[in-house]
Amino acid sequence: MADVVFLTTAKRLRVTEEILKPRTRDRISRRGFLESTALATAGLLADVSPANAALRVADGSDIAKPDLTPTKIALEEHFALAETIGDSSAAPHSPEFKRQILDLGSGRVAEMDRGGIELCVLSLVNPGVQVIPDVSQAVASARRSNDYLADCVAKNPKRFKGFAALPLQDPQAAAEELTRCVKQLGFCGALVHGFSQIGEADTAFYYDLPQYRPFWATVQQLDVPFYLHPREPLASRRQAYEGQQWMSGGPWGFGVETSTHALRLMGSGLFDEYPKLKVVLGHLGEGLPFSIWRVDHRISKPGLVIKAKLPMRQYLRENFYITTSGNFHTPALNEVLAEVGVDRVLYSVDYPFEDTSEAAAWFDQIALSETDRAKITRSNAVKLLHL
Ligand code: MN
Repeated sequence: MADVVFLTTAKRLRVTEEILKPRTRDRISRRGFLESTALATAGLLADVSPANAALRVADGSDIAKPDLTPTKIALEEHFALAETIGDSSAAPHSPEFKRQILDLGSGRVAEMDRGGIELCVLSLVNPGVQVIPDVSQAVASARRSNDYLADCVAKNPKRFKGFAALPLQDPQAAAEELTRCVKQLGFCGALVHGFSQIGEADTAFYYDLPQYRPFWATVQQLDVPFYLHPREPLASRRQAYEGQQWMSGGPWGFGVETSTHALRLMGSGLFDEYPKLKVVLGHLGEGLPFSIWRVDHRISKPGLVIKAKLPMRQYLRENFYITTSGNFHTPALNEVLAEVGVDRVLYSVDYPFEDTSEAAAWFDQIALSETDRAKITRSNAVKLLHL
């Protein structure tokens, strides 16, 4: 295990200054960052307004049209198992929704076609196995889910891939299950629903804890992404949402919970120890791209102790990928592109919580260069997932 250092404020400021210089550790240089983010910003301006569309007609150039040829790759697309759907976030939904999330056959493919999606990376619906406090049950449940998904992928390998469910109640079992899923079942990585409950229901274990370091070593060694998906905070830890339960999930609490977990990973020095880790965040980054500068700004002030050696912003740009799942808003996408660059942004829907057609109707009318469009919808995923 690499040394973890506690930086003084003065050292931290020097580290902040250091990233302005070329670094051997960087996978892309600081200059590359600046150029890529500048290009991203230049390449993506705003929604194509009716007025702009009229101008394009007048000068004879093409109007952006929805392109529903199935070429997109989507990474946050969920399924449920009949045996556990009652314990999942699908439970309160309509019979039609349940039919959709259980369906890994022709209905699912028809929805993908409607949204121009060629390939879905499927994952078990929230909160998955993270919610099972009994360790051996969590291990068995993950294995059943992954075996089921592997069978479904095998029936339609051109349209489906899999992200593994992982029993992080037992870090070593999770590492072994990820290895099995990647090497034997051909999965692309893992999708995990936030913290795990271990032993008792009212517990929350986050993956910056020291006992997870060997698990992360396996993730890095396998060179697969770890998708950190939201879950709701425990019932006992929702004081801020009392009387306003609508806030605790998708509208707000998901983002708070997941961005907090991501910052815990960064702050723990995890990415100093395993600099090649690739963590994926959905929903245009769960608010982090917007807030990350202020995080660094504030921790550069005196008085705070933090294990991480580099600015949080650098981890966000070097160790994270961000998908468009369930956040179909162009100004927010612009912010993400400006912050992390177009090579780290990937298309996703969050089906069936979101509609494949609505996602495509939004994305396909954004004024993007064709190169950037292809990166976000396809080629970044091909590279990240080794397709
Ligand atoms: Mn989701």
